[in-house]
Amino acid sequence: MGPLQIKEILQTAPESQAVTVKGWVRTKRESKNAIFIALNDGSTIHNIQAVAEPGQFSAELLLTVTTGACLKIEGQLVASQGSGQAVEVKINDILVYGAADVDAYPLQPKKHSLEFLREIAHLRPRTNTFSAILRIRHALAFAVHQYYNDNGFFYLHTPVITASDAEGAGEMFRVTTLDLNNLPRTEEGAINFKEDFFGREANLTVSGQLEGELGAMALSKIYTFGPTFRAENSNTTRHLAEFWMIEPEMAFFELEDNMNLAEDFVKKVITYALENCKDDLNFLQNRLAEEEKNKPQNERSIPLLEKLSFVVDNPFERLTYTEAIDILLKSKPHKEKKFQYPVGWGIDLSSEHERYLVEKHFKRPVILTNYPREIKSFYMKLDEDGKTVRAMDVLFPGIGEIIGGSQREDNYEKLLERVNEVGIDPQTIWWYLETRKFGTAPHSGFGLGFERLVQFVTGMGNIRDVIPFPRYPKSAEF
Ligand code: ATP
Ligand code: MG
Ligand code: MG
Ligand code: MG
Repeated sequence: MGPLQIKEILQTAPESQAVTVKGWVRTKRESKNAIFIALNDGSTIHNIQAVAEPGQFSAELLLTVTTGACLKIEGQLVASQGSGQAVEVKINDILVYGAADVDAYPLQPKKHSLEFLREIAHLRPRTNTFSAILRIRHALAFAVHQYYNDNGFFYLHTPVITASDAEGAGEMFRVTTLDLNNLPRTEEGAINFKEDFFGREANLTVSGQLEGELGAMALSKIYTFGPTFRAENSNTTRHLAEFWMIEPEMAFFELEDNMNLAEDFVKKVITYALENCKDDLNFLQNRLAEEEKNKPQNERSIPLLEKLSFVVDNPFERLTYTEAIDILLKSKPHKEKKFQYPVGWGIDLSSEHERYLVEKHFKRPVILTNYPREIKSFYMKLDEDGKTVRAMDVLFPGIGEIIGGSQREDNYEKLLERVNEVGIDPQTIWWYLETRKFGTAPHSGFGLGFERLVQFVTGMGNIRDVIPFPRYPKSAEF
């Protein structure tokens, strides 16, 4: 549909047919015998080479054919003389849609730091690195929908504006309809936030889970895949203020079924990327290798494709939180006081602990289960001993937690007790509690942070570099 893209043209046989290519100039090189223009339109990591003869075009026109300029080139598709590509375009005509002033265009062909590129998030998709990441991100999103569709799940759209705080962590962005020139005040003079959303309290969603459970209690298997907001002062390499979460929720699934689904799901979507994003993954693998080329051999990380294949081909390690704490207590960094945060039964694991288990101890992804009730949310099903809950976190190398999930508490009395215990007013979630009153059922679900998955698959160190427009404190202002 529409004009042919470079990806399609590169797969065409060189039969001297007429072609039109449109895209942005990556480089222009002039030699004695020819002028070479490398053009890219984002459809593939590969550029198409277009060749003109010296003197074929005016010097004035050629001056506007610079890196970043957008062109339409008409010519003949011929077998390429050079190595590296099968075809090239012998140019008949050039139309410059838009020039890009050499002195002002920031993406000149040289290596740019990721920090610099974050400052120009409006242009960074034009780099090889970011276009590759965005294509892989797209493929993973597509694979997510395909996976759930193939497995009998329904895509449920949960609200972005909501009153509920599923996590109870107080990390919500308030939604307001307040007239800023006429703020309603309490008697003490404070802003009366109770009148936010047309008279009711509202926030941006921190998770679609509670609403997702309502779907599972009717359709059996649903998933959500939507934007999620957390007002955390997210200055780590794995937190954003706005991210995308995938949350399947299944009636009649117990914790074990939930773990099996999480493992199978992650493996299948990574497999999809391995099969469909070969060129982009290869590019990113080489980029990472280039970054590490000055490191001694034994300090270099495993090549990206090898790392992904290993995760797909090997079972994840499964153990309880209590067993994990024992391992951490016996570990070298604990004994040598190298962990920043102390270890002990009852702590919420930090990413250094998670990464130790995954990267140093088991050397594979890990699923931890049965966490202490105090550090997990109110909706998780209590274990028989009353001390732990049927929680499961999936931990990945380089990142730590990528999935948090659990079997949900399906007993009305027990759930109500937990709601009161953590200080939620039961009135505010009466609709959630009713699912346990009317036809309750065992059920489970989890949340996968989509960017953390993209981070793992692309090998990028910072979550800010795997989303087109990252939102974080002091992020670029659009
Ligand atoms: P963390 O411990 O890393 O802060 P969490 O336990 O607070 O994560 P959950 O409430 O369990 O997160 O959310 C489910 C998943 O959503 C996480 O496993 C993670 O993949 C993702 N996630 C959570 N917070 C963020 C964030 N701020 N930015 C990106 N992804 C996030
Ligand atoms: Mg958190
Ligand atoms: Mg966590
Ligand atoms: Mg979690």
